[in-house]
Amino acid sequence: MPQTLSLGCIADDFTGATDLANNLVRAGMRVVQTIGVPATPLDSEIDAVVVALKSRTIAPQEAVQQSLAALSWLKSQGSRQIYFKYCSTFDSTPQGNIGPVTEALMDAMGTDYTIATPAFPDNKRTVFKGYLFAGDGLLNESGMQNHPLTPMHDSNLVRVMQAQTKRKVGLIDYSVVARGAEAVSERIAQLKSEGVGVAIVDAISNEDLMRLGEALKDMPLVTAGSGVAIGLPQNFGITPSEKSSALPPAAGLQAVVSGSCSVATNAQVQAFIAAGLPALAIDPLSISSGKDVVSEALAWAKPLLPSKPVLIYSTAEPAAIKAVQNQLGVEAAGALVERTLAAIAKGLVAAGVRQLVVAGGETSGACVQALGITQMQIGPQIAPGVPWCFAKPGDTPLHITLKSGNFGAEDFFTKAFTLLA
Ligand code: ADP
Repeated sequence: MPQTLSLGCIADDFTGATDLANNLVRAGMRVVQTIGVPATPLDSEIDAVVVALKSRTIAPQEAVQQSLAALSWLKSQGSRQIYFKYCSTFDSTPQGNIGPVTEALMDAMGTDYTIATPAFPDNKRTVFKGYLFAGDGLLNESGMQNHPLTPMHDSNLVRVMQAQTKRKVGLIDYSVVARGAEAVSERIAQLKSEGVGVAIVDAISNEDLMRLGEALKDMPLVTAGSGVAIGLPQNFGITPSEKSSALPPAAGLQAVVSGSCSVATNAQVQAFIAAGLPALAIDPLSISSGKDVVSEALAWAKPLLPSKPVLIYSTAEPAAIKAVQNQLGVEAAGALVERTLAAIAKGLVAAGVRQLVVAGGETSGACVQALGITQMQIGPQIAPGVPWCFAKPGDTPLHITLKSGNFGAEDFFTKAFTLLA
């Protein structure tokens, strides 16, 4: 007998899924994130599931297929409302995938109306008169116009969405949202009567998102960035509570594996070393020369682990990365380092590590896969957008956190462990 889930969520990328899950937990929901569509039913009582796909930039047909598979599984788990989560910079091309996936979900659910808004004021993403702002400027002046895969040249989301949608796209503008849930509901009814299928919604503050959330109570499908999530739990009678982020008690050894080369991660590595804690740098050229870097790193870590957390990192400054990339090629270097760090993470867990920090989005994906993690329960937030998670790969209890790129303050690597103590 499937349990009743309040929210069933489909996220178009991995760290975006964690970001959404983190917002839901902070609003009081107990949340599990799955890596891809699970093969089995849920085995714990929770309020929301976020199925993490990697469908942002794949072919629209493939993204639709994966999203429909996720929908079907979420429905089988009794989801009362479906949430399609995309990036807060609305990353997409005229072909999709936000539009095609939204329409496929609408068709499959038999619903003729939904909203779309990437507004996330806590992250400086606001929508006004249908225009998306990233920080203090319009999206197409924010650097996103130069994105390698999804360059955003137009900040008008009604136009952007209309280009990738067969249904008519409309706008619920700020003058409506500011008046509250009832005004939003009236506007929705009006747009529906005008044949609008998808409405972009303005929001510039968390208060706007709370008002909007109330108006979305009976909407079967919501599409948004992670911001709208803060206003939905209230509709299910759920309020913020520390209990929602409670994880089983942590035990075991502590380690950090870092493959991120962002400015923030470089500073975090330096802070860990400055705190007098043991750190080992991995040299990509040694890996490519055939040295058994994984065994060497594990042999270095094992005697140290019982007394303190260790850090194993490939994190480097831009000049060093360039030199490696020139010699090995950009993609080959990345894949080589990811594979190595993932094998090290697996070895560390085999050696008794039960509290693991992983830095780097791609690095996290590689580690999670190597560890065989398919589901994670979402716990307390360490830094905005980065929660501790709990997984049980092969029945081994493991607290793990996946920190992407520029997230977290300088003391992230040490602060993380104090939160589990
Ligand atoms: P972030 O979240 O900061 O973007 P990622 O893990 O997503 O971090 O990406 C970092 C990429 O850089 C990975 O593919 C990783 O393997 C690669 N990498 C890490 N260290 C080095 C290095 N020293 N030289 C070259 N590439 C590296």
